[in-house]
Amino acid sequence: MSGALSLAKYSIGVGDRFAHQAKSQLEACRKALEQGVEVIPVWNKSNREHTIIGSTPADTRAAADLAVKALGWELPYHVDADHINLKTLDKFIEACDFFTIDVAELIGQPCGATAVQRFVDSHPELRADLVIPGVDQPFRIERDFLAQVAKKYLAAVQEAAQVYHRIEEKKGRGRFITEVSMDETDSPQTPAEMLIILAAVADEAIPIQTIAPKFSGRFDKGVDYESDVSKFSREFSDDAAVIAFAARRYGLPPNLKLSIHSGSDKFSLYGPIHQTLRRLNAGVHLKTAGTTWLEELTGLAEAGGAGLDLAKEIYAEAYAQRQDLCAPYAAVVNIDPARLPPPPLVAGWTSEQFVAALRHDPNCPAYNPSFRQLLHVAFKVAARMGDRYLNLVSMTETSIARNVTANLFDRHIKPVFIG
Ligand SMILES: [Zn+2]
Repeated sequence: MSGALSLAKYSIGVGDRFAHQAKSQLEACRKALEQGVEVIPVWNKSNREHTIIGSTPADTRAAADLAVKALGWELPYHVDADHINLKTLDKFIEACDFFTIDVAELIGQPCGATAVQRFVDSHPELRADLVIPGVDQPFRIERDFLAQVAKKYLAAVQEAAQVYHRIEEKKGRGRFITEVSMDETDSPQTPAEMLIILAAVADEAIPIQTIAPKFSGRFDKGVDYESDVSKFSREFSDDAAVIAFAARRYGLPPNLKLSIHSGSDKFSLYGPIHQTLRRLNAGVHLKTAGTTWLEELTGLAEAGGAGLDLAKEIYAEAYAQRQDLCAPYAAVVNIDPARLPPPPLVAGWTSEQFVAALRHDPNCPAYNPSFRQLLHVAFKVAARMGDRYLNLVSMTETSIARNVTANLFDRHIKPVFIG
């Protein structure tokens, strides 16, 4: 497919809940470019986010287009329909050129006994000892294991094919980037499973450019990785090697790469990720969207006055509604209620105190991950405030922009892509 829309080697998924920070986010990519590294911005937003905020994909597109124009950005940029499925796809078609097809719900669903048999029979190459460049141990995949993995994932891959074709029908072949995501599920996929899944994806002729597995360990919202970093590092490296191998072996797009749905701010993984990208000459798509909203709050608080007051008010409401706010994110938030400061105490805080508790600076003794996580899921509170929130965001633009750009560039782009 010549001239097909193709995702660059390095890209970053920058969500923007209220669609006010596209320029400051793009500024971080511009700073990377200044250092000679192309990191392509992708504005992603899920159906759930749009519903909570009351926004549309067209709003995301408009904000991205405007930012690109304002900064004179000449490289590609994309708008991602994040975590869509057959039910939610239609409203994203026009505004988006990147589609993250979420098939996690189909994992483990029945796909028909003959489909499994057919898959196993048609992939004898997967039942030999497989030496994958970049992976220490050859894979030894037994027939039973192959059948078991096929049984678990074929329905998900079939669903991905259906969604892909529906998009292709409407947008045209090669006019959009396809990602398949399996991250919002209970058990992680191993590198061997990833290889089998990619063989199935190739059988269905889905030209995926990124795949988002579920990695081992907890990916809690807005805070660092607390599980075994060395285990993640090996898994990430093996996954990247498998992807390069599968792309060649099965004729998938040569730019196929991993997409990390990070839940934001997995700082301790960034070093190992960077080393793997270097060693394997691999690309990556890093989704680290959620923290821009927290940078808005940081900027509001830092501005003092009415900005600080509003940040405190949002915290107080979030504190009162913490059960409801956290419920949809139960699997990915880890808040210690004992560490949540009571709102009357926060009411007396200075800008510095509020910012120090919120900002993700692991070296700062006042940094409070529970406080941060509660605010991370509290964007619903700001959404309900409507213009009152947005007007103050506009009024404190300088303070917010400084935080959004510095966060994205210094804490994410630099360690992952520049090193
Ligand atoms: Zn995800």
